[in-house]
Amino acid sequence: MNSLYEQKALTSLESLGLSVAKERLDTTCQQAAAGQWTYSHFLGYLLEGEIVERRRRTVELNLQFARFPVPKRLSDFDFAAQPALDRRLIDELATGRFLYEGRNLVFLGPPGVGKTHLAIGLGVMTCEMGHRVYFTTATDLARKLTTAMEQNRLHRQLCALTQPKLLVIDEIGYLRLDATQASLLFQVICHRYDKNQAIVLTSNKPFTEWGEVFCGDAVMASAALDRLLHRCTVINIRGESYRLKERKAAGIPPQSEYSAALLAEHAAKTKVE
Ligand code: ADP
Ligand code: MG
Repeated sequence: MNSLYEQKALTSLESLGLSVAKERLDTTCQQAAAGQWTYSHFLGYLLEGEIVERRRRTVELNLQFARFPVPKRLSDFDFAAQPALDRRLIDELATGRFLYEGRNLVFLGPPGVGKTHLAIGLGVMTCEMGHRVYFTTATDLARKLTTAMEQNRLHRQLCALTQPKLLVIDEIGYLRLDATQASLLFQVICHRYDKNQAIVLTSNKPFTEWGEVFCGDAVMASAALDRLLHRCTVINIRGESYRLKERKAAGIPPQSEYSAALLAEHAAKTKVE
């Protein structure tokens, strides 16, 4: 017959919130008996299972919360294709030290060079380190903040945006922001700066053109840049578009030539004599 403490084991594990250990108690007891484990081996094994499962669930929740548009990893990045990029710098960033220093990262460069890939890769890494990340494009962020402002919950929204350990703002400069959107984006940058929380930004526009992005407001753009660049690593990727490179390697002409060829073919076929 089971002792009182054996009977209590399940309810005690439940009261302590150790649900995985509770679930696995029976099988682990059988393993322990079969393997003639010591008591401490048994306890260590059971608790390790709880910790591993908790970590896995935390990472899963972090990845869900982050809302990455596509899954990208730093390990999938082909550094040989971007020789001008300093791999050691990316390796250093992958240690996550920038997160604890509240250092920002800005990836600049033309389309297709891997800015978003690297930003997501660092975001995924941050999730795996057990932290919250929030990924957004500049346009979506501006839209979200505008709605929050209209619904009188801007302050709450701004506070919520300072919570994640990392905020990724993709594609600054693809679309020009209006005056309200520019001011809202500025406020996000200020809030995170005040809390010493890191931002990863990507942009196809050099800093000299950020006045344009901020609705022609050079003063606001420079105030935003002042905060962003105070503790910041700027990574300029000047190489060729990876997509274009892949197309070339596959013997497919670049998109524009390809479209031009198709258009010419279509025009020839539909030509009225
Ligand atoms: P950007 O944000 O600079 O416009 P992306 O990061 O969206 O470019 O890259 C475009 C596509 O090419 C993505 O699918 C990305 O994963 C891939 N890509 C770009 N550079 C590399 C690279 N060096 N190694 C592997 N994939 C890459
Ligand atoms: Mg991009």
